[in-house]
Amino acid sequence: MRIVVGHLFPDYLNIYADRGNMAVLARRAAWRGHELAVQALGASDELRPGEHDLYYIGGGQDREQELIAPALGAHGEALRTAVAAGAAVLAVCGGYQLLGRFYRDRNGDELPGVGLFPLHTVAGERRMIGDVLLECELEPGERRTLAGFENHAGRTYLDEGAEPLGRVLAGHGNDGESGYEGCRVGRALGTYLHGPLLPRNPWLADWLLTQALAHRTGEEPVLKPLDDGLEAQAHEVSAARARARGGR
Ligand code: GLN
Repeated sequence: MRIVVGHLFPDYLNIYADRGNMAVLARRAAWRGHELAVQALGASDELRPGEHDLYYIGGGQDREQELIAPALGAHGEALRTAVAAGAAVLAVCGGYQLLGRFYRDRNGDELPGVGLFPLHTVAGERRMIGDVLLECELEPGERRTLAGFENHAGRTYLDEGAEPLGRVLAGHGNDGESGYEGCRVGRALGTYLHGPLLPRNPWLADWLLTQALAHRTGEEPVLKPLDDGLEAQAHEVSAARARARGGR
């Protein structure tokens, strides 16, 4: 099967080795006999709902966010339509903030967001930096831990009733207070975690591949298990660092 990924603004939002997430998805798809076709999507590209099975948007500084916010906003309606029709999303850090309603920077200037995630973000004085450990339950009854690294000044506030990606076991998360991290809308996930995220959390890479394939075929596939020994070690190192850092 050919899985088509739309990588939004890769030239601007790409800090913290976010591209590593794409490399992991491509390898894990290939090991199951699937091809991952990654298309860069920028200001001049047309975004046609239904064409992409997964959208990916990485992290960036305020400066880059400012540069692309208007062009990303222009794709907003198409993105929301695509997700409502079952496309998957992974949005990291700066990209996560811009898929919310707005991001207010330190000068009080507001960048309008895409409005895909029911949340908004306000820049704070102190940066929240360090290893993070979450507990997630993306499928009912299947609890998993997610380990990553956060580095953000923005505080993200979820709307009442919005679904977070996970519960913070160690680290700051969305705002350093709520005990939640990230956001989920259907097959769309937003998070502050990078590192990059997927090499040390292969279960999440497979969840995203499963969602992308389900969008393509209309049916959830069962992916062949892989030997994730090394990935499990990477997860443990990262999780141990987060635990040593302590609770919120
Ligand atoms: N505006 C962001 C912040 O809160 C950028 C986050 C990021 O992608 N590192 O710091």
